[in-house]
Amino acid sequence: MSSVARFPSANGYYIVMEKDATTPAPGVYTGYTAEPRHLAAPAPPASTICPVPDSAGRRTHALPLVCAAAAGKAFFPLPEPRQLDIFPRLAGIYVHVPFCSTKCHYCDFYSVADQLHRSGAYLEALDREFDLQTEHFGVPEPETIFIGGGTPTLLTPSHLARLLEIVRRHLNTTRLVEFTVEANPNTFDAQRATVLKQAGVNRISFGAQSFIPEELVALQREHSPEDVPRAVDFARAVGITRINLDLIFGIPGQSLASLETSLRRAVALNPEHLSCYNLIYEPNTPLAARRTRGEITPLDEALELAMFRQVQTMLTQHGFTRYEISNYARAGAECQHNLHYWRGAFYLGFGPSAAGHHSGWRWKNSASLNRYTQALIRSVPCLPIASRERLTGWARWGELAMLRLRLSSGLQYGPFQRQTGVDTRARLAGVRRKYEGLGLLNATPDALALTDAAVPVSDTILADVLAAFGAKDGSLCPAGALQGESLTCRP
Ligand code: SF4
Repeated sequence: MSSVARFPSANGYYIVMEKDATTPAPGVYTGYTAEPRHLAAPAPPASTICPVPDSAGRRTHALPLVCAAAAGKAFFPLPEPRQLDIFPRLAGIYVHVPFCSTKCHYCDFYSVADQLHRSGAYLEALDREFDLQTEHFGVPEPETIFIGGGTPTLLTPSHLARLLEIVRRHLNTTRLVEFTVEANPNTFDAQRATVLKQAGVNRISFGAQSFIPEELVALQREHSPEDVPRAVDFARAVGITRINLDLIFGIPGQSLASLETSLRRAVALNPEHLSCYNLIYEPNTPLAARRTRGEITPLDEALELAMFRQVQTMLTQHGFTRYEISNYARAGAECQHNLHYWRGAFYLGFGPSAAGHHSGWRWKNSASLNRYTQALIRSVPCLPIASRERLTGWARWGELAMLRLRLSSGLQYGPFQRQTGVDTRARLAGVRRKYEGLGLLNATPDALALTDAAVPVSDTILADVLAAFGAKDGSLCPAGALQGESLTCRP
C-alpha cells in the first residue's frame, strides 16, 4: 500500500511524494515527482519575482510556470541550483532539430515532416531557449556537442549556419573535444559540409541503416545506398574525418547474406564508429501498425540472434570493438557524447523533446514544435519543459548501475562507490548468483560486465539489476529517500 502527499514548493509547483506504507520505517518517502501547482491551485500573483528576466531584463513578471499558465499550458521550471549537487561539471549539450522530409516507418523520435517553412521560428525559439538556460546555469562549457534530430542537415545552408552560430554564441568551447552533427545521406552536400567545418564540427553521424535498396524501402527511408559514400566523401573533402554510420538489423526481408553485404559496404567506407541497432517495433509507429495488420512479418528471434553474432564477428574482424550494447568503435574513437549519457553525467538539451539531466533530475522539453515555439517566442518567454522528475536514493543509483552495465567496461565497484557511496558488490550478489554459470556475466572482484553472449538478453539482466536496487525489499536508501529536495544521497 502506498499513499501520496503534496507539498507546495516556493516556486510554483507541488512536490508529490509517495509514501510506501510497507517499508519498515513508517513515514519514509520513497521518491517524488513534481507536478505544476497551477493545475490544482491558482497561479501565484503576477508580481512574483521571476528567476528568468523578460526581454527587457525585468524580473518582476510571472514565474516561468505562470508564463505557461497564461498561455493555457503547463510547464515546469528548471531545478534550482540549491537542489543540485555542486560537483558535476557540464559534460554535453544536445540540440534537437525536429525537421524531416518524410517520416521513416520505424521512427519514434520526435520530428515533423514537410514543415521546413517553420525553421525560422524554430531558430528564433532556440536562440531564446539558450538565453534562458544560460541565465539559469551560467555559460555552458561542454566537452561535447551533439546536434541530432530529426534531420539537422535538412535545414538550408544559411539556416544551418545560423543554428551553429546560435549554439556557439552561447557556449564557452575551450573544453570542447567532440562536436557531432547527424545527417541523412541524401541531405548532405559540399555546401553543408563546408558550413559544418567552419563552425568547428569534427564528427558526422550518417543514418545509413542498410545498403540494400529493398530494405531501405521497407523502412521507408528516402535515401539510396549510393548516397552514403557520396555523403562521406563530402565530409572528408572538407576535413571532417570522424565518421559514424548507423546500421539496422532485423529488417523485414533481411537475410544474413544481405546483412553481410551492408556490413561490408559500411566497413569499406572506413568509418571510425558504427552503431548497429536491432530493429524495434516501437508502439504507435507505422511499422508497428503494418505488423498488426499483417502486412509485414518480423524476423524470427533465432535469425535476429544470428544477425547480432554476425555483426559482432564481422566488426571485430575488421578492427572494431563493441564498447556499448549497440556501438562499435576503432580504438579511441568511442562517441564521447553518448558516453556521458551512459555515465550519468550532467547534460543539457535544447529544442523540442530534448532532455537534460543533473544530479538525478531529468527534465524534457515539450515534444511539440508548436508548443515549443509558442512558449519561447513571446514577450515573456518561458522554458517549454513538459516533464520533470527526480530520482532519489536507490532508484537513482540503480539506474546509474544499469547504464554503466550497458558499457563493455561494465560497472567498476570502487569508482562507483566513490561516486555514490553505494557498495554495489553486495547489492548485486543476487544477480551474480542468478546468472552464474550461464556465460552471461563477466564477474571479477573489482567489476561486473555483460559478456557478448548477454547482449541479446541484456534487457532482462538490466531489469534484474534495477530490481536489485529497488526499495521493495525494504532496504531504502537511508539518506536519499529522506532528503527530499536536498542534495545527494550518501548512505
Ligand atoms: S530521418 Fe531519422 S528522425 Fe527523421 S523520421 Fe527518419 S529515422 Fe526519424
